[in-house]
Amino acid sequence: MTYDSTNIFAKILKGELPCHKVYEDDIALVMMDIFPQSKGHTLIIPKAASRNLLDADPAALSAVMPLLQRVAGAVKSATNADGIRLAQFNEAPAGQTVFHLHFHLIPAYEDVPLGA
Ligand code: 5GP
Repeated sequence: MTYDSTNIFAKILKGELPCHKVYEDDIALVMMDIFPQSKGHTLIIPKAASRNLLDADPAALSAVMPLLQRVAGAVKSATNADGIRLAQFNEAPAGQTVFHLHFHLIPAYEDVPLGA
């Protein structure tokens, strides 16, 4: 499968569509998920164009990992979450719906069942 630059996240990265942005640098844009799975559900969108993990440039993946770690800590702290899930899906059968590589950070709370 090839990368289609008309996907929603590519348009958000180009500023053609709005988002609730919480951070941006030259490596990635961080924004709130429009349909949060829990309070504070955050998406990290690497700027390098790739469809998903399978076609990503290893150097781009390496560059985004420290940011992912920092944002995970910041989101957990800002939401007072008790834990945080990192999720990432590759191709439609695995649950991918937007075909630009992204990572989900989904806070978890002791008093809220997963998926509630
Ligand atoms: P995927 O299933 O591809 O891993 O996740 C895509 C995520 O993007 C979903 O959690 C969905 O709610 C979110 N999403 C889809 N469209 C938009 C949008 O236009 N803006 C934002 N902020 N999130 C979106």
